Amino acid sequence: MELSKAIEYLKNYNGRQLRLMEVCGTHTAAIRNSGLPSIISERIHLVSGPGCPVCVTVTGYIDKLISLSKDSRNVIVTFGDLMRVPGSEMDLSRAKSEGADIRFVYSPLDMIRMAEEDRDHVYIFAAVGFETTTPVYAALISEAEKSGTGNIRLLTALKTMPEAIIKSAEGIDGFLAPGHVAVITGTKPYEELAGKLELPFVVSGFKEEGLAAAIYALVKMAQSGERRCLNLYPQAVREEGSVLAGAAIAKYFESGDAVWRGIGLIPGSGMYLKEEFQRLDAGSRGIDGNTETPGCMCAKVITGRIRPDECHLFGKTCTVDHPVGACMVSQEGACFVASSVSPGSLREKSVSCSGSKIH
Ligand code: SF4
Repeated sequence: MELSKAIEYLKNYNGRQLRLMEVCGTHTAAIRNSGLPSIISERIHLVSGPGCPVCVTVTGYIDKLISLSKDSRNVIVTFGDLMRVPGSEMDLSRAKSEGADIRFVYSPLDMIRMAEEDRDHVYIFAAVGFETTTPVYAALISEAEKSGTGNIRLLTALKTMPEAIIKSAEGIDGFLAPGHVAVITGTKPYEELAGKLELPFVVSGFKEEGLAAAIYALVKMAQSGERRCLNLYPQAVREEGSVLAGAAIAKYFESGDAVWRGIGLIPGSGMYLKEEFQRLDAGSRGIDGNTETPGCMCAKVITGRIRPDECHLFGKTCTVDHPVGACMVSQEGACFVASSVSPGSLREKSVSCSGSKIH
């Protein structure tokens, strides 16, 4: 089917009200960028889910990093998006401005060189992410072991998606499965979830045409009561996922309980270094403290219960320049996206949806 016909269908949809959740933060940004929400029928509600890793990281984790940074023997290394995520008292930017040695990098592997050149300090990487980034941290550990520096550690806040999707499923009629995560895990977990939750799942890429095709497919499946996972991103996602990445994760990590900001404790949803690699861990287990900033409604935004602009602080005391909650910090956070993305121009396009099979 041509994209223009799919969009026409979504525009004129007049069936029952549908709430469709995009799980992944990158999808949230791509969908808003595409302009789709302003084109499709008001009876189709696109809501964000728990797939922004920074947004679901508890304040206790930020507090732990800050506490480690106060030891002058430690250097904290992180991606830039973690710097302004609020802890219970301050964020990493403030700790840095007060003298802590906190550095940000574009690749965790950059830390190997830093640690090799400076054996007097312990370099601790803030390893936050989902199944997508866990293989990168596996590569970091592998390289750290090879380098033999002995001064590299990880403080992990690694999570897996399926149980968080179950926790967010109330009132949802279908899911856009997390595309990047599915590259690693394959479609099987989403087939299982579709059966368990009795809801349709669609795996989609990130381009406008693919997203429109995926939402069209989800609407059709929700209408017809289909409860399966449809893969519209076969060029990147296979049923079995990435065997190599899966093996790298299994070599270094094991599952354990994790607390999610906005959701709470989800048994078995965390990934931690195995016992034999504990010498590389900076104290990741048992971090469960979470202090929500008064008035911040990230917990409801993360689980699709409200839109960002339904938070009383949105655009007032909470802005991209002065974020109050984690959802306004990360570029994948729903509040950041709602504040900063200018709607795209899908309505002006009538390109053909090549490569996407629309049922
Ligand atoms: Fe939290 Fe700000 Fe989003 Fe409100 S607008 S939910 S305060 S991040």
